[in-house]
Amino acid sequence: MILLIILKIGGSILTNKDDFECSINSDNLKRIASEIKSSIVNSNKKLIIVHGAGSFGHPPAMKYKIGEAFDESEFPVKRIGFCKTQNAVKKLNMLICETFISEGLPVVAQPASAIMTADSKRINHANLEIFRKYLSKGFIPVIYGDVVLDDENEICVISGDQIIQYLAVNLNPSRVILGTDVDGVYNKNPKIHDDAIFYDKFTSIEDLDAFDGTTNVDVTGGMIGKIKELLYLADLGIESKIVNAEVEDNIYKVLEDDDVKGTVISKEFE
Ligand code: ADP
Repeated sequence: MILLIILKIGGSILTNKDDFECSINSDNLKRIASEIKSSIVNSNKKLIIVHGAGSFGHPPAMKYKIGEAFDESEFPVKRIGFCKTQNAVKKLNMLICETFISEGLPVVAQPASAIMTADSKRINHANLEIFRKYLSKGFIPVIYGDVVLDDENEICVISGDQIIQYLAVNLNPSRVILGTDVDGVYNKNPKIHDDAIFYDKFTSIEDLDAFDGTTNVDVTGGMIGKIKELLYLADLGIESKIVNAEVEDNIYKVLEDDDVKGTVISKEFE
């Protein structure tokens, strides 16, 4: 049986996200590429990789306030902001794909700005046929947090986490996995609170004590944004797991379905 896995690798892992001077974390990137290779090669797994925009996408998106309401007269400036953001995330994607290809992974970039649109900041259309075709020929489609055209707001940012949700709803994967820079979901941000309590199972947003944002530079919602997308999937019966991709071998193990510390988001536990 073929297993379709949607794997997200957070911008926090791939870039130095606190760094406004876009820089890539090449040690993490190479290690994760090789972990994916070890699990995927000669297996029955088909993979879609989603990655975040990290320090590449957030600064221009924030500077040009992409996603906020604006007057028609401001559109030319907003449009340039859109182009700068699109180009910045494309650069990151190119670096990621370069590393993956040099590991022998057959990745092919599918920029959301080219194949998706949104309405009121939610994806309303995507060319999924192209994903299916690439998957059927053994490619690994790679898509990432990006800017897209929006029917209501002209333009908007969509996060890698929203993309995961959309793809999972529409492509019926066997598994949904997210690698980030913490072990999973806690009752509050573990990077700020030493006494944060870890959840290995998570079913409701009410289990969060505080709606702390992220400690990273982020315009797309940090852990809270992730959880909301994943709880939506859980409502539909699609389970997901968040693991720490900074820990060596975690991505390999989770792809192998081995025991790895992490948070499973599902309604099954209720
Ligand atoms: P990524 O770039 O990997 O998608 P984000 O930076 O968007 O990740 O989100 C992960 C961050 O969310 C963590 O580094 C942590 O600082 C923050 N965070 C905030 N609240 C929580 C929480 N309740 N549990 C876990 N992490 C949290």
